[in-house]
Amino acid sequence: MRVLICGAGVAGLALARWLARDGQEVVLVERAPARPGAGYMLDCRGRGLDAVEHMGLLAELREHAVDLAELVYHDQDGAELGRFADDGPEAERTVSVLRGALVRILGDALPSTVDLRYGRTVGAALEDGDGLDVTVDDGIVERVDLLVGADGLHSRIRALAFGPEEQFRRDLGFHTAAYVMREAGTTRSLGHALHMIEGSGLQVGAYPLDTDRLATLFVHRVRPQEPLPQDPRAELRRRYEATGWIVPRLLEHCPGPGELYFDRVSQIEMPTWSRGRTVLLGDACQAMSLLTGQGAGMALAGAEALAQQLRSEGDIPAALARYEYELRPVVERMQAEGRALAEDFVPV
Ligand SMILES: Cc1cc2nc3c(=O)[nH]c(=O)nc-3n(C[C@H](O)[C@H](O)[C@H](O)COP(=O)(O)OP(=O)(O)OC[C@H]3O[C@@H](n4cnc5c(N)ncnc54)[C@H](O)[C@@H]3O)c2cc1C
Repeated sequence: MRVLICGAGVAGLALARWLARDGQEVVLVERAPARPGAGYMLDCRGRGLDAVEHMGLLAELREHAVDLAELVYHDQDGAELGRFADDGPEAERTVSVLRGALVRILGDALPSTVDLRYGRTVGAALEDGDGLDVTVDDGIVERVDLLVGADGLHSRIRALAFGPEEQFRRDLGFHTAAYVMREAGTTRSLGHALHMIEGSGLQVGAYPLDTDRLATLFVHRVRPQEPLPQDPRAELRRRYEATGWIVPRLLEHCPGPGELYFDRVSQIEMPTWSRGRTVLLGDACQAMSLLTGQGAGMALAGAEALAQQLRSEGDIPAALARYEYELRPVVERMQAEGRALAEDFVPV
């Protein structure tokens, strides 16, 4: 079988690895010109961590883990509101890593047979009786048996196969930003703990990574249908200007567009995850939002489930149907939990 995967993120890389190890021919196209930078902090747990273990990559993931012994809540002026040790049984089966580190680990584990092309996307896809002609944006037409959209929340493959994003995107009423910054003084002052700062309608997270780098997370409530700002950095300064303690220093180090993640907090809900020989994977069909802390994990679990079905089922439509049948109930339950969390995620 020959498969073209669009998107070399968490889901796409994991699927490419499974398929290539099963002897399938894989072309993987990624819009970004190279591997991503640090990105943002994410927790890998549950079925996602199991999937990493099944790939034989758990020890490596743990090597890149950021271990924070405590979670400390502060009010918007930095006064401590509560302190919790992060040492229960759940903590043992949770690995906190930068998205960039996870993508690097998955990328390093790719078999050399995978044809990985950076700086490329899919221009068009035309399906006939026994395959698809997928036009890559360099003009090359790839004849494949299966096209996989693993291209995230704003998936191009979803748009090509199913139509505009707005039909499937449910916004949860927040905008979010995240970046990694380098500043020794602030980082050291935070010790070995994750700090959450809460203000009216907003929350800021600061995760010390090592001696001089820390990862940030900003989440604030927005009006329904509020558009994304033209200048995310200026918007962050405006939104968080009344927040004190370390926040002004975090904002001073806010990077430009390439290294700043800024987006809506959204879920993707689809009536079906595949159409003909095109199937969606990860956030493209099941985004559950950062509020659940499960999106990357379920993207990894989805990649494993899809590979497993393609391995054991005789034909592609049956494999795609069984992949969705297996995963959809879990995804829908997590999405419902995410919506419930959104109700009181940050103080009103
Ligand atoms: C701030 C934040 C915190 C989060 N915290 C957690 C957490 O704690 N735990 C957790 O499990 N999840 C968390 N998530 C969610 C998690 O990051 C996503 O669910 C996960 O990355 C989805 O994986 P994916 O491979 O589907 O998409 P992505 O990881 O987004 O990868 C998509 C890839 O496709 C590429 N691409 C996009 N468009 C195109 C195109 N047109 N052509 C070619 N390539 C394209 C992108 O460049 C990218 O490489 C968090 C998300 C955010 C934003």
